[in-house]
Amino acid sequence: MREPVDNKRVKWIVVTGGVLSGLGKGIVSASIGRLLANGLKIVPVKCDGYLNVDPGTMNPVEHGEVFVLDDGGEVDLDFGHYERFLSTSCKFTWNLTSGKIFQSLVERERRGDFLGKTVQIVPHVTGEIKRKLREIASDEKADVMLIEIGGTVGDLENLWFLEAIRELQSEVAGDEFLCVHLGYIPVIDAQGQQKTKPMQQSTLFLRERGLFPDVFVGRSKERLADKAKEKLHWTCGVEKDAVISDPDCYSVYEIPLIFEEEGLKEKLERKLKLNIKSDLTDWKRLVHNILNPEKEITIAICGKYTELADSYISIEESLKHAGAHFKTRVHVKWIETTDIESGAVSNSEIFDGVQGLIIPGGFGSRGIEGKISAIKYARENNIPFLGLCYGLQLAVVEFARNVCGLRSANSTEVDEDCKEPVVYIMPEQRQVTIKGATMRLGSYEALLTEGSTVAKLYGDTVAHERHRHRYEVNPDYHTMLEKNGLVLSGKSKDGVLVEFIELPGHKYFVATQAHPELKSRLESPAPLFYGLIEACLE
Ligand code: GLN
Repeated sequence: MREPVDNKRVKWIVVTGGVLSGLGKGIVSASIGRLLANGLKIVPVKCDGYLNVDPGTMNPVEHGEVFVLDDGGEVDLDFGHYERFLSTSCKFTWNLTSGKIFQSLVERERRGDFLGKTVQIVPHVTGEIKRKLREIASDEKADVMLIEIGGTVGDLENLWFLEAIRELQSEVAGDEFLCVHLGYIPVIDAQGQQKTKPMQQSTLFLRERGLFPDVFVGRSKERLADKAKEKLHWTCGVEKDAVISDPDCYSVYEIPLIFEEEGLKEKLERKLKLNIKSDLTDWKRLVHNILNPEKEITIAICGKYTELADSYISIEESLKHAGAHFKTRVHVKWIETTDIESGAVSNSEIFDGVQGLIIPGGFGSRGIEGKISAIKYARENNIPFLGLCYGLQLAVVEFARNVCGLRSANSTEVDEDCKEPVVYIMPEQRQVTIKGATMRLGSYEALLTEGSTVAKLYGDTVAHERHRHRYEVNPDYHTMLEKNGLVLSGKSKDGVLVEFIELPGHKYFVATQAHPELKSRLESPAPLFYGLIEACLE
């Protein structure tokens, strides 16, 4: 076992949430990080109370998108916010779940690390949490550890995380620790007044846990009125200039700018004795483009987790990033693919008022034929199309069926015994029975064909993108697909795995086995999304 590490110098910022969930704690944490990012090494950490080791086995409709990191870690979607706001590449170890903590503690107990002792929530679970936090701080040589505690204060699930943070606070100096508490400030319509009581009460929960907020972030419809700030100041003891507004906005990218205007930077500097050199000039320019678009387009996204917008959050953000560079507002028309199959929506309805189509990642066979029929329509009608992961696999199935004439072509994910398995399970995946973290995960290199659309968009013949799949294009069909005009424009180094495809002569018909949406940033949009928007504007 490693000795506890010495984290002199490190500043610890902890973000907690109160009143109710869904207030955007991830965005708040990411925005605080963005204010600090220039010149300081910020390490975002998310503590999640659930007992899954990671969210990889959860349904997106239940938990939102599963975000995948370069190192293959499947993590909470808040890591998407952290990476997009901080332009950093996060690590799997930075997502602490109760499942992960208990797993490693139980392993250590079985190994005999605690012989003779009773293993308890305090000090063992809390100790394990602190040990992991300090290890991350030291491994990353962090200047600032930005720790978001999932859930709401008062929940049972995050108690041990809050207790660990309380202990940590007492172990570091006053100018090394800062607690930000995000809460909801409702307005009763008939009265029109911002009400601070829920926030006051959630502060009591926090105090009960021995934590005292240094900064309040008040989520509300509008910016906080002076009166509300004043009230929170004298009821909760937080300095008035440390009560920061977090109003509803059109774009989440406005939040760092609003926090800066609200004086959060100065507050952080004073309490943590930091010298912050944030530069938000380019960010401001792009946010201006988002808020003041000159053009508008609509992209249809056919998926099966469309009931929860967070299921495809990285795709939506990627469209905003690329759109900002073209001063274009991108609207999304969500299509539940089972509705196409059942006949509830027809292709002409889907494509009505739509300039482009995205088929995103997915699993299983529900809604597959609907997606294939939408791809066929886009291919035949010269409508810009981007396929992501399952989107590539289904574009290959569609092409094999309708261009190559293999009527029974399919993926073995849909039909295990199909006669023409143009997409099949990767050989190394066949023996895998355990479901957690066993897909082909994380960043892989692809070699792109010189002169291809994708090589032009990447400005290179090498691309690194993140993956999360078990199936691939069957190598037995590569030649047949190519002979019929499909360009396999990117492959793994050994040439076995198809990573990118495209159709020459089509406005934009591009698909990838990867998830480029996971690496898109406001300042540097994902190339394939950039290409899609460009084609839609033509
Ligand atoms: N279900 C497909 C596979 O496992 C695609 C996965 C995805 O779209 N992420 O290969």
